[in-house]
Amino acid sequence: MQATTTASAIDIVAWFVYLLAAVMFVMGLHYMNSPKTARKGNFISAAGMVIAVVMAFVKLFVQHDLIHSWVAIGLLVAGIAVGAVAGVWSAKKVKMTDMPQLVSVFNTVGGGAAALVALNDILAAEGTPALVVLITAGLGVMIGSVTFTGSLIAAGKLQGIGWVKKLSLPGKSVWNVLFALLTVASLVMLCVMPGQRLLWSVLTTVFALCYGLVFVIPIGGADMPVVISILNACTGTAVAMSGLAIDNVALIVAGALVGSAGVTLSVLMSKAMNRPLLSVLAGGFGGSDGAAGSADGPEGTMKETSADDLAVQLVYADKVIFVPGFGLAQAQAQRELADLGELLKEHGVEVEYAIHPVAGRMPGHMNVLLAEANVPYEELVDLDDINPQFPSANVSLVVGANDVTNPAARKPGTPVSGMPILDVDKSQNVVVMKRGRGKGYAGIENELYFEPNTQMLFGDAKAGLQAVIAAVKELLA
Ligand code: NDP
Repeated sequence: MQATTTASAIDIVAWFVYLLAAVMFVMGLHYMNSPKTARKGNFISAAGMVIAVVMAFVKLFVQHDLIHSWVAIGLLVAGIAVGAVAGVWSAKKVKMTDMPQLVSVFNTVGGGAAALVALNDILAAEGTPALVVLITAGLGVMIGSVTFTGSLIAAGKLQGIGWVKKLSLPGKSVWNVLFALLTVASLVMLCVMPGQRLLWSVLTTVFALCYGLVFVIPIGGADMPVVISILNACTGTAVAMSGLAIDNVALIVAGALVGSAGVTLSVLMSKAMNRPLLSVLAGGFGGSDGAAGSADGPEGTMKETSADDLAVQLVYADKVIFVPGFGLAQAQAQRELADLGELLKEHGVEVEYAIHPVAGRMPGHMNVLLAEANVPYEELVDLDDINPQFPSANVSLVVGANDVTNPAARKPGTPVSGMPILDVDKSQNVVVMKRGRGKGYAGIENELYFEPNTQMLFGDAKAGLQAVIAAVKELLA
């Protein structure tokens, strides 16, 4: 009797604590609307997660009377310690440019954990689980397993691990359809024949793990952003399903938030990339067969310029458009670019920053980077608004951006075909700052670099911009 009363009391306390954690997740997300309040939002959400984890810990102890089980205590404490140390260490150590890989690894862990929780719920149930539990937990197993292998491959591709990037899948559509059908059929059988739940849940897991592989392996080129955000949505959905299966309100709300944010982002990203979302889900687009791009490079030669020449062009311009890309983030040159912008504005030059929705390595990468360098938000102009302005720009200065400026996207048959690009080639003069003749993320040559109105300033973006700033100052002195 005493135990039952304690158990129901702890259930009520846990319900309220989980609700508080869920409210903190929502508040945190709200504060992440703006870079100014994003840190606060992150802190509130993290605090909500700590509260939820502590509550889960206490609930386990009380309900399962674990106080005398040193093995259980040791396992729980070790799990929390390993997770906390790995989380803090990776978050502190990761470079801004490697953040998408980290997100992908977190998706792997989140998806895998959700699948295991759901699998345990199916297999450890006393008697036959109710149909609703089989459906929700089965979906958790299925979506979590797809996310686990899919995110692992995505992380490997983003990290540029050679053999992962080279993986190819001839007949990708057949494999996609086959494993999708097998996974769904096993899930249906799990619900229809709960007496054989071990067999069907294991088959659902194995087929879903295989689907995750065949879904992501063929995707390459410049299409990874959409895939990452779909996998993110999958992680959230799997967590929400596991939450429903084990009746945990914090998991349901956190999973639903991540899932819906991921779906919204996927829709926005696929629009930005001009890729139909359904083709992504069917694995029907991207740099298939591991192709790194067309073998026929553009014709013509690249013309080089110097920091002094560029400084003259900038100082005598009426209007300059900066085009930042992944290379700016890689060089950590955002402050130098902002300083150059300030110098030119003080001299009366109109300066704007062209922001492509997938420039960099994660959605909003350039906005965050430039906000960090205190570039006023109104100077960051989106693709649709900046494109008509390129013909009136005396100089467009491309700093470490490649794919998002490649006119090859306007033609069929390349890994960037159909992707909206910044119409930099329509500017009166273009100067591109990059280290050498290396290709962009999609692995193809950029036709822009061979245009008659384009000049190349080779070198690291940070050092290059410092040299240009010095030359501009000298001219204006
Ligand atoms: P790209 O990756 O296409 O090109 C970056 C360029 O920066 C390279 O050509 C490189 O040339 C140059 N670079 C690298 N380091 C430096 C440095 N230190 N100094 C100067 N230049 C440097 O970048 P974009 O921003 O144009 O395009 C982003 C690409 O990434 C797109 O294809 C997009 O789809 C993809 N992507 C985007 C994600 C997102 O969510 N935003 C996520 C994943 C992928 P060099 O080596 O010669 O210096």
